[in-house]
Amino acid sequence: MGTRLDLNGKSAVVTGGSRGIGRAVAITLADAGARVTIADRSDALRNDGLSTSDVIRSRGGHAESVLLDISSSPEVDATMNDIAGRHGIDILVNNAGTIVSGTVAETSDESWRAIFSVNVDGTFYCTRAAIRHMLNRGAGGKIVNIASVSGLRANQGFAAYCAAKGALINFSRQVGIDYGAQGINVNAVAPGFVETEMTAMYDASIRHALEAQTPNGKWATPQQIADTVLFLSSGLSDHLCGEVIAVDGGWLVGTPVQVG
Ligand code: NAP
Repeated sequence: MGTRLDLNGKSAVVTGGSRGIGRAVAITLADAGARVTIADRSDALRNDGLSTSDVIRSRGGHAESVLLDISSSPEVDATMNDIAGRHGIDILVNNAGTIVSGTVAETSDESWRAIFSVNVDGTFYCTRAAIRHMLNRGAGGKIVNIASVSGLRANQGFAAYCAAKGALINFSRQVGIDYGAQGINVNAVAPGFVETEMTAMYDASIRHALEAQTPNGKWATPQQIADTVLFLSSGLSDHLCGEVIAVDGGWLVGTPVQVG
């Protein structure tokens, strides 16, 4: 591993790291040397019978799991202060997110609030706590927000999710420029379609249609998202502030069209 991808001595927090993209991110950062705290609502065992922290420890890394509902501001402050006091926080990956389908007419107040309370409010609470700690410590830091292509382009029938991810993207840009001078890099990753439990709702015909719309013809693996998060968590991204990197097989750039 190149030295500037080396995260030895760094402490990372990954929200929603018990499964899916967050699990791949936590393992990848730990493989690069970081001590990783997985903050999730549960510490569920996955199909292999292991929690994310079990996997990391089995690979020789350092990990712990804490139970946290990121939509609770007091819970976030208490948990982040505890982690900061014990290990410091050099890297925060705001990955936890939830999705609900529905046009505006179909979306209840409760659904709208549920989506915003995790994807937007929760990211704000975690980011604020991390930034306060990073500013006090004066050693900079890295914050990576997992947004979505749905925050950059409308996605029919997902009104609340698209609005929330759009807010998250501009939040990333704003925080990115506010703290660039303090050496805190805040950037976002916008995944396209990724094979996780979140996308298990799509049936074969929708999956085929989405593949056909994607220039490289594929969905992403969680690892492919984690690889970009590793870059944004490392010294290789020191000159990126408020950037949004789409990892989507070209879906945002253009749709393949059969001509002739
Ligand atoms: P996932 O498999 O549903 O995992 C999400 C994780 O976040 C779960 O462990 C979940 O815990 C946790 N979480 C949800 N609400 C939480 C809360 N209030 N506090 C703490 N943890 C919470 O989803 P994924 O596909 O890995 O997605 C990860 C991120 O990528 C999300 O932000 C998602 O919007 C984004 N994304 C995903 C895709 C995709 O195609 N999969 C595409 C673009 C963007 P529980 O088990 O308790 O629910």
